[in-house]
Amino acid sequence: MKNALEYDEQNIFAKILRGDIPCGKIYEDEHALAFPDIRPQAPVHILVIPKGKYISAADFNARAPAEALTGFYRAVSEVARQAGVEQNGYRLICNTGPDSHQEVPHFHVHILAGGKLGRMLGPPL
Ligand code: 5GP
Repeated sequence: MKNALEYDEQNIFAKILRGDIPCGKIYEDEHALAFPDIRPQAPVHILVIPKGKYISAADFNARAPAEALTGFYRAVSEVARQAGVEQNGYRLICNTGPDSHQEVPHFHVHILAGGKLGRMLGPPL
């Protein structure tokens, strides 16, 4: 089993970044790549990932250079703008670590939009 702090070069988003598997790219710049989630949970469900090798938001926010941080978060907004969801709004989700149910160990932000998403993801505890 991989050390949790070691980036897994075989994770699915690493393969997408290398071009080993297709993703249906909808946006790319020097800092970020965006593509539709394969199992959409809203009418619009886009994943935005940084180009660098970061396991989670905690890892990205701690280690990425300022230019990469700024470039990535600006790309998230640009993807939402280009998807046409800026006016009606959207939800950003970033699962980080085991309790969050993060499945893919390459930092990513989900953009969910395209209809009323409700107040929260599930009923209150
Ligand atoms: P997480 O649970 O890690 O926050 O989200 C990972 C997301 O990646 C899930 O919503 C899942 O549907 C999506 N996903 C997993 N494998 C693939 C894939 O091969 N292609 C795409 N486009 N999305 C994937």
